[in-house]
Amino acid sequence: MNGTMKAAVMSAPFEIDIVEMPLPELRDDEVLVKVMAVGVCGSDIHYYEHGRIGRFVVEKPIILGHECAGIVEAVGAAVTKFKPGDRVAVEPGVTCGRCPACKEGRYNLCPDVQFLATPPVDGAFVQYIAHREDFLFAIPDRLSYEEAALNEPFSVGIHAAKRAGVKPGQTVAIMGMGPVGLMAVVAAKAFGAKQIVVADLEPIRLEAALRLGATHAVNIRDADPVQAVREATGGIGADVAFETAGNPKALQSALYAVRRGGKLAIVGLPPQDEIPLNIPWIADNELDIFGVFRYANTYPQGISFLSSDIADVRSLITDRYPLEQTKEAMERARTNKSGSLKVVVYPNGLL
Ligand SMILES: [Zn+2]
Ligand SMILES: [Zn+2]
Repeated sequence: MNGTMKAAVMSAPFEIDIVEMPLPELRDDEVLVKVMAVGVCGSDIHYYEHGRIGRFVVEKPIILGHECAGIVEAVGAAVTKFKPGDRVAVEPGVTCGRCPACKEGRYNLCPDVQFLATPPVDGAFVQYIAHREDFLFAIPDRLSYEEAALNEPFSVGIHAAKRAGVKPGQTVAIMGMGPVGLMAVVAAKAFGAKQIVVADLEPIRLEAALRLGATHAVNIRDADPVQAVREATGGIGADVAFETAGNPKALQSALYAVRRGGKLAIVGLPPQDEIPLNIPWIADNELDIFGVFRYANTYPQGISFLSSDIADVRSLITDRYPLEQTKEAMERARTNKSGSLKVVVYPNGLL
């Protein structure tokens, strides 16, 4: 296909311009996706503010945005699964498929992954993207594009729940109710958790967590989340805890919230490399600690959970912007933490 499209390009921190550029060229195994909805993620904000996340540095202008869904516009010559008009969720990390990590099924650890909006790979604040067929997933008509885009942060929660082996009837404690924490509530519920105890300091997030299936919400300004978990479990502690805030205090709380023999999944990335943790406590209680990096093999399961009305995730979308206002969308997500949950950009017009 020939022609041009609009893209929101970040040239430097706090600078986003709307640029006209050629449509992407399609390889044989790729699909041209008309991008209909893109969630603004914490990582997009981080690149927007700081121009880097750890070893990933923005060295040339980049298009941000990786939580997206859209409509198939055209397909490459070797594509067999899709045809124009199909509605799809986009799994943002395209892997090599050949390395030991890929072959083991842990393709989130592929050293050659090309992940949308991770420098130098461009993302989805653009009208069309070319994406490899095997990282696109059909979505049913009943699932909106916004919900399908939320399958990305949901996938992180599903991966954490799988890593920590959440089982029906268990108690799960989740520290941090940003979008990933909120979607982790839905994942814990989907895996059968009976009690879900959550902690944050923003009332809007705690209210959202209760709507999505949390059974106990603790505002850390008023109460101790570890104490709340102990009370909810007859003094025993949670079977599983997730830390999703990237906060040292939250990580320490998550550690003390877990029961003897329980499991802790570390999802959030703190700004500092080293955090003091009580090692005798970990050894004495035989805690299992899992790192969580993105996700693998979660998209089909996430789509089927979201399609089954497990929770009203649509209620997380608080702010909507057309592509032309991507900068406003980023500012909104950055500065309105007590009033916004998920900010969504619509590259082909508001839906
Ligand atoms: Zn994200
Ligand atoms: Zn690989």
